[in-house]
Amino acid sequence: MFLRAFRLFGLASAVAAVSTAHAETQLCENGVVTAHSSQQNHLPLMCAAADRALTVFDQCALTPPTAIDIFVSDLSDQSCLGLFHCGEARIEVIAPDVIDTKRSDIGLFNPLTSERLFESVIVHEIAHAAVDLTPCPLASCVATSEYFAYTVQLLDLTEDERETVMASASAASALPADPVKHDEINAFLLYMAPDLFVDKVWRHVTGRGDPCLQLRRIQDGSLIFDRFHP
Ligand SMILES: [Zn+2]
Repeated sequence: MFLRAFRLFGLASAVAAVSTAHAETQLCENGVVTAHSSQQNHLPLMCAAADRALTVFDQCALTPPTAIDIFVSDLSDQSCLGLFHCGEARIEVIAPDVIDTKRSDIGLFNPLTSERLFESVIVHEIAHAAVDLTPCPLASCVATSEYFAYTVQLLDLTEDERETVMASASAASALPADPVKHDEINAFLLYMAPDLFVDKVWRHVTGRGDPCLQLRRIQDGSLIFDRFHP
């Protein structure tokens, strides 16, 4: 997940060292996620976040990931709140108290409390894991993967939370409420204006009747927003 000011993508294919010592480890009751942190009090939050993501997958008839390790990390060499390592079933996320030190750069999701944002970032990154095995016929399916992850993240929020988040999106973009076209969802917008990207994703996915259907089409590879660039 991006930080607004830095626009760094929350997917990584490179192997990166996990820099925090993880004295505490817990296999969540859902059997999918193993949580790792130096602070024991993070573990129930991480398992709760995993449960929330799995609930969205269940409600939308999506195939969940099979096994994921989530590490609380300082991500000090990254400009993002969370990071999914493609092909490794590994997520890094910064601690709730560290999130509070980055408030000025968070953007749309800033109205959430630090604990809810911590959970919400985990939901977002687990969503990336759920499409990690979806074939991409292009060099990159980054916009498609982010469309999926942000939609799952927004579906997980309560209605009040979502209204607050999207109200700040609408205020920032000052866009007319026209239907969002397919080609408006693209990697250029994602990198240049991530908050606007999220705003357009939500208006696109809710403007087509059934967000779950859009998510299923992405997961089965039949809906792609990225394009071939010669
Ligand atoms: Zn992401």
